[in-house]
Amino acid sequence: MQREDMPGKINVNSNSGKKGGKSIVHILKSKGVEVSDQGKALISFSHDKSYITPVRPLAVAFPKNKEQVAAILRICDKNRVKVTAVGGGSSLTGSSIPLNGGIAISMERLNRIIEINIEDGFAIAEPNVTIEELNKKLERYGYFYPPDPASAHMATIGGSISTNAGGLKALMYGSTKHWVLDTELVLTSGEIIRTGSSTLKMSRGYDLTALVCGSEGTLGIVTQATLKIAKRPESSGIIISYFGSIKNLAEAVGQLKKQGAPLIMAEFMDQASLLEFMHARKKRTPKNANYVLLTSVSGTGKNDAIAKACIKIIGEHKPVKQEYLRKNKEIIHIYSARRELHEKMVEEAHMEGKDIIIGDVIVPPSRLAPALLEIEREIKLSGQRAALFGHIGDGNIHSNVYFTPIDKKGIREVMKLQERIGRIALKNGGSVSAEHGIGLEKKALLIEELKSKDSERILGIMKEIKKAFDPNGILNPGKIFDM
Ligand SMILES: Cc1cc2nc3c(=O)[nH]c(=O)nc-3n(C[C@H](O)[C@H](O)[C@H](O)COP(=O)(O)OP(=O)(O)OC[C@H]3O[C@@H](n4cnc5c(N)ncnc54)[C@H](O)[C@@H]3O)c2cc1C
Repeated sequence: MQREDMPGKINVNSNSGKKGGKSIVHILKSKGVEVSDQGKALISFSHDKSYITPVRPLAVAFPKNKEQVAAILRICDKNRVKVTAVGGGSSLTGSSIPLNGGIAISMERLNRIIEINIEDGFAIAEPNVTIEELNKKLERYGYFYPPDPASAHMATIGGSISTNAGGLKALMYGSTKHWVLDTELVLTSGEIIRTGSSTLKMSRGYDLTALVCGSEGTLGIVTQATLKIAKRPESSGIIISYFGSIKNLAEAVGQLKKQGAPLIMAEFMDQASLLEFMHARKKRTPKNANYVLLTSVSGTGKNDAIAKACIKIIGEHKPVKQEYLRKNKEIIHIYSARRELHEKMVEEAHMEGKDIIIGDVIVPPSRLAPALLEIEREIKLSGQRAALFGHIGDGNIHSNVYFTPIDKKGIREVMKLQERIGRIALKNGGSVSAEHGIGLEKKALLIEELKSKDSERILGIMKEIKKAFDPNGILNPGKIFDM
């Protein structure tokens, strides 16, 4: 997969010129590692998909195999050069921006699907396989890999493990950590370990595989992963329900869950997001529709009694209109309109000379309606332009807030608004990050969350774990927390 050049981001700070840069490139090249310190590569690896100011790495290394990854880490550790692993570069929190005069390690040459084992229920893949690529392969067997971020075409196995990605189907299947059985992890010493096994269960003390999930490349570099796979549901229609009130929509979701509806997906959009979604569908928004709920239930198809029961439950919560789509073509179209929502909004914002900071918070589903109403009030009070959407079934709310890159004060206001949204989530028993991770963006909010839960000690424990894995602090420094 090619990383595209940077689309008109804010200023680019260069790391180049740091002492030791030339010599590390020279040492790595002498070990047979492909390394580039050309402008195009440096720019391409200076940013991710967040709004955060890009930083050019000293160089970009393109290891061909785990042995080269091990050599890079050993050499960089010895020379105290920082390293950041980069997969699809689709992080929304700045987690794949290489800081501190470090080098970026592109995982793009490690891109093979090694094994599909239907009998034992797993697939083994190298880190740069995208989730979409893996699912295309699994489709032939009637299987799939359930973690399903809207960015599945860019998000790689290594990157999505490292951010513990969630996505559209997390409601039924959970997030990435529930599907990783084993990782091959290269440590800064150059040692290569396996954190788990290719079995569906394992109980042998501390679970390092779970620890790697969400560690944002700060503990080691994943060079291979064994992933649990699932049989594809027989079929799944999509119910589209338009509402005038968010309260009714949230209550409909609550009722579906109480009744045990086998929901694969429950996504919501507010009016601004709905407009974008309807534009993609080339349809008009129904009258009085301020919100939309997309639900998909397992086990529909020829016998769609379950879907009909769900339509009835939703119907009791005053939707202004409902549609039930069963044709494969229509379902694919709805999924892609939903998947492309954020990217389309960003594209349009760029055309207006603006950008978007996306929020990602989660509350217990029973707190959704009050939390959403409070978030809406907060946005209105701030006078800022925003669009809300998200994986409502598991309580995950995304808030796209617009800003003008040259307006530094405006950017600070947007960040403050996102912080207030994070606090609303905390007040409602939730968390400041559901699936995008902490990266550079949410370090202060993470501390607030831990304090609010009387668990500030966790930060100390995390730092001790980091030191155990990475005593010289070379791996993706400055992410999640400052040492
Ligand atoms: C349009 C859009 C929609 C999105 N929708 C969702 C969504 O629905 N759900 C969701 O959860 N996320 C979503 N995201 C966020 C993002 O796609 C995920 O965080 C994704 O999992 C990151 O994968 P990546 O390969 O792009 O990782 P990168 O951005 O390359 O890296 C992310 C982190 O992983 C580390 N890393 C990468 N490869 C390795 C490796 N081999 N070993 C160790 N560390 C590694 C990096 O250092 C960094 O810390 C979305 C992003 C975009 C742009």
